[in-house]
Amino acid sequence: MGIYKVRNKEHVFMYKTKAYSAGSATARLASTTIPRRDPTTRDVQIEILFCGICHSDLHSVRNEWSSVMPTVYPIVPGHEIVGRVTKVGSAVTKFKAGDIAAVGCLVDSDQTCPKCQAGLENFCPNLTLTFNSPDRHKTAPVTYGGYSDSIVVDERFVLRVPSNLDLAGAAPLLCAGITTYSPLRYHGVTKGKKVGVVGLGGLGHMAVKLAHAFGAYVVVFTTSPNKKEDALRLGADEVVVSRNANEMQKHTGSFDFILDAVSAEHDINAYINLLGLDGNLTLVGAPPKPLAVSSFALIFGRRSVSGSNIGGLPETQEMLDFCGQHNITADVEVIAMQQVNEAYERLLRSDVKYRFSIDMASLKSEQASEASARTPQPRVFQPAIG
Ligand SMILES: [Zn+2]
Ligand SMILES: [Zn+2]
Repeated sequence: MGIYKVRNKEHVFMYKTKAYSAGSATARLASTTIPRRDPTTRDVQIEILFCGICHSDLHSVRNEWSSVMPTVYPIVPGHEIVGRVTKVGSAVTKFKAGDIAAVGCLVDSDQTCPKCQAGLENFCPNLTLTFNSPDRHKTAPVTYGGYSDSIVVDERFVLRVPSNLDLAGAAPLLCAGITTYSPLRYHGVTKGKKVGVVGLGGLGHMAVKLAHAFGAYVVVFTTSPNKKEDALRLGADEVVVSRNANEMQKHTGSFDFILDAVSAEHDINAYINLLGLDGNLTLVGAPPKPLAVSSFALIFGRRSVSGSNIGGLPETQEMLDFCGQHNITADVEVIAMQQVNEAYERLLRSDVKYRFSIDMASLKSEQASEASARTPQPRVFQPAIG
């Protein structure tokens, strides 16, 4: 049931697929249909099985990053996508129908700039994000993400998922996983290194699992003592309650690397002081206001503070393969698509261990309900799980 559309003199073949979208910054996410392009020669069409809920989904839906990337409505968020290939274009070589595949935060880039040449598409000045980016294929004004029944993506931006991984837990690897894997690798975290993780949420819990698998000595910093047991279960060797000055002081000058995943305002100098010579603190959380950095804390010890943003395609595949070898997935609470608004409220309260993963079968059952609603009977949405 393709739709034929001419836009800017270019011919685009499209089909419609079920999705959840928000119409404004204050609207709830609700059921809708969106256009997707028919797969072109290099495209892979994926039936989405699971999509993780990332905090940036919520920021974008509520237009909280309007100064950096204003939201175009309607928005269909979601960039932690795992699914089954249903159709491939004639030039596709990496995938065939039936394969399990994944899509993360990127769906395209210029593929010509030095960053793309180096496999760092995540830093390409002309990248296309999975949602809320201008759509190069002109199927819609902006790209639509993974809260949807299917997606069509250039095969160069589609990743392979190791067959042993649980798919609901694998979905968050596509953002939370690579966001933490990349800086750990870049800063040489290996056996024998002492690594700190600040904040035990969606990102932090992945960092603990990955740093532990790299063989590092992992210390979790948390404000809530009741997270101690969970941190140890996830792979931490030690847990420090950051409000306890004595506990903090014991670690002064001893860390090789600290990953800071806190997105609220906090004093990063307290952590910089825990770094050893040439130690680095990398920020992956994004507090809304600038953080104050003490020059003295950096100067004494040649320490550095830096940032990191997801990862390129080659490294994202490397991360998935590493997770396959070590059987690492995110700890997830699987929800139905219909529970997404409630999940957002819980996300704001950090009331999730540690990531929501949407079971897209729930969206299919909604389609069935809609179809049956054409006959005069009440519309009942039946979540598959929950
Ligand atoms: Zn994300
Ligand atoms: Zn580029």
